[in-house]
Amino acid sequence: MGLGDFFKNIFGKKTCAFCGGECGMMSRTKIKGDEYICSKCDDMCSNFIRKSRFTKPELEGHMEYMKRLDRIYKEVILPSIQKHESYPSATQRQGIEFFDDFGMFRIMDGSRDSKDRYPTELFRYDQVASYEPYYEEAEPEEAGKPKVFHEGGIIIRLVGSLDDTTKMQKGLRAHPYITEEIKVCFATNDREKENYLKYAENAIHHFDYIFGVESKALFSFGMSKQEKRDLKAAVAFTKTAFDAVKVAKSGGEISEEKKAEIMENMHAIDDAQTGGLAVYTRAADSAEAKIQ
Ligand SMILES: [Zn+2]
Repeated sequence: MGLGDFFKNIFGKKTCAFCGGECGMMSRTKIKGDEYICSKCDDMCSNFIRKSRFTKPELEGHMEYMKRLDRIYKEVILPSIQKHESYPSATQRQGIEFFDDFGMFRIMDGSRDSKDRYPTELFRYDQVASYEPYYEEAEPEEAGKPKVFHEGGIIIRLVGSLDDTTKMQKGLRAHPYITEEIKVCFATNDREKENYLKYAENAIHHFDYIFGVESKALFSFGMSKQEKRDLKAAVAFTKTAFDAVKVAKSGGEISEEKKAEIMENMHAIDDAQTGGLAVYTRAADSAEAKIQ
């Protein structure tokens, strides 16, 4: 390869593997298999994946996946939303909006949310492996002065395909695409710091609520939420086992009412085994099932 070809290869225009359009050096990303994606097609992907990890067919599947999430948000969540919690309620930076009734959340982003070309990306609660606040300080301009606040927010790690799920809370499921940690940036300057602390604390508190990380409640005769779930599950299990024996004895006939009751008991068992997370798994499954 001559020097001219060499530079042409780096600086010259390339064809986008998805739309076939030409893209210059500044508006493309190299993907696996020596192909390129232009910035317009890039907009249809998650903000949280490194495209260079994927081949063209994988990214095509990913774009379909993103379209589906966008439809779940617009066609299932938005029309029937009862309550949602957002921290902060509006932001020019990032924040988190929780949809408990649908077992999902989204990351708000002031620079993307108002633009139609970005599909809304949803995450299921049962994909979250861990969450924690982060707080970065920068060296002061003058030596000897205190460090200055640089950036803060929450780091969310999803269950990746390589993680050891036996060491995690039961009932979690892997995210099909994201393995990178997700940094949700609430504040980037000192002026926003106080508010950031409040919002980040609220968001962490809400995650704690979802994952059942909470102290024993008052007036519960010393039982934690989990202990109550365990008790409910034990009762449900016994009832369901009884029903199964009865049904087997009577030759397999079972009423719709009984079926519903057994389902409910099975759910109670699920809830106890997953620390309550199964409630959100069912909600997310049913939201997903509404979109073909
Ligand atoms: Zn393109």
